[in-house]
Amino acid sequence: MTPRKIVVSCDRCFRTQTMRPGRVESCDGYFCVTGHGPSGGPPPGLVRELVINAAGGFWGWRDVLPSHEAMSGILRAREILAIGQAQRIIEDAGDGSA
Ligand SMILES: [Zn+2]
Repeated sequence: MTPRKIVVSCDRCFRTQTMRPGRVESCDGYFCVTGHGPSGGPPPGLVRELVINAAGGFWGWRDVLPSHEAMSGILRAREILAIGQAQRIIEDAGDGSA
């Protein structure tokens, strides 16, 4: 009896990886090297998870709804970015008068 195998192929090139199903993490896509990763960002409202060695040496990615934790992280990052931009505007405005 031969074990069932599945073939995972890189999203960009023709390289493939033959794996046993139990050793492959389910992903939206796979890539063989960093440069062959997904082009563009995840669809609005989703975050992209990268799965290291999702299928042997191939990495995978999946676009998922952000977890509560990830969402707070994203909001916090945006807040920090906004604070930074506001500070820069205030500093720029202060340069002329001071
Ligand atoms: Zn590739």
